[in-house]
Amino acid sequence: MEALVLEPDLKLAIRDIELTEQLGPHDVRIKIHTVGICGSDVHYYQHGAIGPFVVDAPMVLGHEAAGTIEEVGCEVTHLKLGDRVCMEPGIPDPNSRATREGIYNLDPAVRFWATPPIHGVLRPSVVHPAAFTFKVPDSVSFGEAAMVEPLAVGMHAANKAKIKPGSVAVVIGAGTIGMVTALSALAGGCAQVIIADVVQPKLDLAATLGPIRPVNVKQENLSDVVMQLTDGWGADIVFECSGNERAIAGVFEPLCPGGCVVLVGMPGAPVALDIVAAQIKEARIETIFRYAHVYPRALALMGSGQLNLKPLITDRFGFKDSQQAFDFACNMPATSVKAQIEM
Ligand code: ZN
Repeated sequence: MEALVLEPDLKLAIRDIELTEQLGPHDVRIKIHTVGICGSDVHYYQHGAIGPFVVDAPMVLGHEAAGTIEEVGCEVTHLKLGDRVCMEPGIPDPNSRATREGIYNLDPAVRFWATPPIHGVLRPSVVHPAAFTFKVPDSVSFGEAAMVEPLAVGMHAANKAKIKPGSVAVVIGAGTIGMVTALSALAGGCAQVIIADVVQPKLDLAATLGPIRPVNVKQENLSDVVMQLTDGWGADIVFECSGNERAIAGVFEPLCPGGCVVLVGMPGAPVALDIVAAQIKEARIETIFRYAHVYPRALALMGSGQLNLKPLITDRFGFKDSQQAFDFACNMPATSVKAQIEM
């Protein structure tokens, strides 16, 4: 089939590639409609590897996807032909210990789209387990449905934070993940989110998404703003979504005593964390890796109109312009958040 293939020499092109997929009794075949371009796709395109995952054979890119059911395995009961769906891109071994412990995202055997050696979904169709395929509410577009994948990261972070209604949260970083984390924090009950970045257009957009106070850390001190807004107490939760070394070094400063820091952003190399600063506040520190079973709740929030991802979809490309879309994503203008490809 015709797919967007990244070669080991980092050449990217639409070409024919042999992908043999058998529809098992518990699988569905999905006609792909929309695929978002993720930072990881761009990273593979630019560098050919993320940590231990190396593109050493041709690989189809793309893992943030939505589409329509076009074939259903004989044992599948909750999906039918024509259903609009989005898919969780990581499939664990159902019999693994991690899966049985309820932490299937940490299964070492997980097969995740567009993570070598597993092909992604910038192609006409894919066979996928029905259990990891989710019906999309009528009011939710394919573009929004493809955004459930990054949203799931923010939802998982909000779950880990154990938000109480009325909490104040800080989100460091106003990229896609920072934005969806801010929205998840509000959906989880936060009264206010304070979002920090250095890129003013992203902060301006974030401020339109809800009770979100933007802080441009080139102009204002984040901790000063947080202390001012919380009568000197600090934020209940700090979501670190930048992966930036300096941001991580100061992550406990805006936190309240007994508060929680969730480390979401992935630094490119080991960085320093101020243990004593954490101890003085008895900070709870949480980390996340992807997400586990948050798609149904994400889709429920979107279907009820309580969580709107539309403003984050800033750029759209046709499949034939995929190469151009990736070159755009490599040099995203400050006003862009998420670029998507429509098949
Ligand atoms: Zn992604």
